[in-house]
Amino acid sequence: MFERAGDILKECRAVLSNHTGVGVPQCIYGDILDRCSPWLIEELRDVQERWKQKARNLLEGGATKSSAMHERGFFCWRACQIMLRDYDEETLPQPTGHCYRHEQECALARAPPANFSGMVGAIAGVNCFDWSALGKKEMWLGSSAIAFMCWARERYLARGHEAFCIVECVCNFDHEMLGDALSEWFVLHVLHISPALFGEAVDRRRKYMVLLSPSLRWHSSLAAFGVQGSFERLFARQASLRGVSRFRAPPEDIANHIALMAVRRGFPPSRPDGRPWSYFEAMSPSLQRRVREYEAKLLEEGFIGRGAPAIANLVQGPEFMAATFGSVPALLRRSTLWLFDQERCALGLEHLECQGYQIYDTDASDDFHCAFTPFLRTLPDSTLRRLAGNGMHLRAIGTALLFVTGCTIRAPPPDPRPSITANPPTHVLESDTACEEA
Ligand SMILES: [Zn+2]
Repeated sequence: MFERAGDILKECRAVLSNHTGVGVPQCIYGDILDRCSPWLIEELRDVQERWKQKARNLLEGGATKSSAMHERGFFCWRACQIMLRDYDEETLPQPTGHCYRHEQECALARAPPANFSGMVGAIAGVNCFDWSALGKKEMWLGSSAIAFMCWARERYLARGHEAFCIVECVCNFDHEMLGDALSEWFVLHVLHISPALFGEAVDRRRKYMVLLSPSLRWHSSLAAFGVQGSFERLFARQASLRGVSRFRAPPEDIANHIALMAVRRGFPPSRPDGRPWSYFEAMSPSLQRRVREYEAKLLEEGFIGRGAPAIANLVQGPEFMAATFGSVPALLRRSTLWLFDQERCALGLEHLECQGYQIYDTDASDDFHCAFTPFLRTLPDSTLRRLAGNGMHLRAIGTALLFVTGCTIRAPPPDPRPSITANPPTHVLESDTACEEA
């Protein structure tokens, strides 16, 4: 059961409300900052600004940016103290947030019913921009830290009934600080997961931080190989396909996309000789130049240029990132993948397929098809690519969830006479994504 979900982006909330069956969240919230008192946010910003000033002083004293940010990363710890200070459940009303599904204030952190025998879990994607190699690298002193603190506060409010949390971020994310900040209620474990681990020719190495409450512990059989080792033994597969095989949009989808590009450039519906425009012809001159630069680079390195089974992200350029022959490079919000073998760019729906959505596989059973594909088709291509770049890989988060729910057991309660639950648990999920840049 999907209890609630939230996202700052309107289009993400629209996707959430177009889910079907058990995938429909009961409540859909927006910006996580709106769920926290403005005065608390203001106080956090003031404290963060003071830490930033200290970091600037360190930088002026000759420290590297990375070490200055780490030195003053204790903002995280101080912020947690502020967020939880004076919080009195007896006198403060239950926190609420604006719900876009019910168009009213709905309660956050609702406790499950008294007879509930399942497990409650929370899943979140932390804004990666302050941690990513391509981002600002401001870490805990970046603007995303405030949103993260609001999320941590909600974990505090839900303590006692959330059995686990899974938090995804880029590998640079400071999981030790996260573990320290929440150590009173959770024990942190870290998984490094890329779809390549499952045999997919897709590169997206991310950190999945698993927080277990005292009510859960890993099954003893994991002790021999550790958490990461056990995960890999269960799920690791050899890749058998190349990244270029992920791109299988039907000709009509590609033709429609080229037609839209041609209209945007003010071209007539077809070429003067009556033939349709090629993808390359409909591209902007700057992207055409970038394609030629990549082709020249491939030729220089001894490969064929045009027609090579390679992929390049045209946003970056060959001097910054080489074309790849094996895997699809990690998708970011503005990624524009040139497929040398098909002489076109990947479509937004194909970006989502790279993220684990089943859009084009007509042979797959209905259970594996993305049920809201008709809605996705109504969204602009740039929005689809943004959704794909912002999101978690479905197989990665799905497998992490399966691992956590399947390989943990109920920890004995503090009661001297522990009880054993015979029924397999059902799961209630809560999800928040506030990721703006991979
Ligand atoms: Zn609601």
